[in-house]
Amino acid sequence: MNVSRTISGIRGDLTGLRPKHVGFVPTMGALHEGHISLVEKAIELCPVAVVSIFVNPTQFNDKEDLNKYPRTEDADLDLLRKVIREDDAVFIPEVEEIYPSEDKRVFNFGNLEKVMEGLHRPGHFNGVAQVVTKLFDIVEPDYAFFGQKDFQQLAIVKELVRQTGSKVKIISCPIIRESDGLAMSSRNRLLEPEIRKNAGIIFRTLNQAAELAKEREIPEIRKHVERSINSTSGFSLEYFEIVDDKQLLPVTDRSQFHKENNYFCCIALRAGKIRLIDNMEISLL
Ligand code: AMP
Repeated sequence: MNVSRTISGIRGDLTGLRPKHVGFVPTMGALHEGHISLVEKAIELCPVAVVSIFVNPTQFNDKEDLNKYPRTEDADLDLLRKVIREDDAVFIPEVEEIYPSEDKRVFNFGNLEKVMEGLHRPGHFNGVAQVVTKLFDIVEPDYAFFGQKDFQQLAIVKELVRQTGSKVKIISCPIIRESDGLAMSSRNRLLEPEIRKNAGIIFRTLNQAAELAKEREIPEIRKHVERSINSTSGFSLEYFEIVDDKQLLPVTDRSQFHKENNYFCCIALRAGKIRLIDNMEISLL
């Protein structure tokens, strides 16, 4: 396993391996089985896989969130060693390597960034676009793997590839969950034990919402979600939306459902001091 901390290092590692297809898995570390499922998919589809571990400061709109973001490099490398092959590479740059000077680029994703995470985390997706374009330039992957856990990020990255004319093919990978349904997340390890014990409420509520969406009106579903989350001690709802997966347009009335689209229930909430997001597809038959 090659571990590089510099741009020239990772480029050097990859030079001898092309034209083999390179699959890329960008992460912020504190790796769990969700990340590993992306790495396994990259390994399945590509002769060379690159995993980056980089806590990108420009996508954090909250300094405290950035400071307390878990950093577990040794454990991350141990996990990766179990799955990756000899030619695969890990890229762990310092902030100065990626941002030698301030990145002033401003991206425009239209409606995609005006809803949900875009509304509640101003500047977040601009930071995501900054780091993704930089990492794509460095790694020059053929494929890049992203989790459906970050539903809106996936839509933004697809749009970014479209806008920049990038050759990278984006592969979306399903959400990996704990046994109580909690979506795996690096932030889960920051949950207080009492909060973690009750966190299955998120998955249960999403399931109920996706079921209700088959026949009930949207305000009724929203009310149910609010009641379910807010009545759980330590939990408070930030937003709940039902959106399509292309335009991310919030559905406000059942008449807006169209058979040819896919719809998702998306949720953001506070679990104690930690902010979590999750989503679930609605099967409208
Ligand atoms: P992060 O380290 O949080 O930036 O996540 C890196 C990648 O892993 C992103 O594409 C995430 O969507 C994906 N990911 C995070 N959690 C999960 C999960 N539970 N299941 C599948 N993919 C995930």
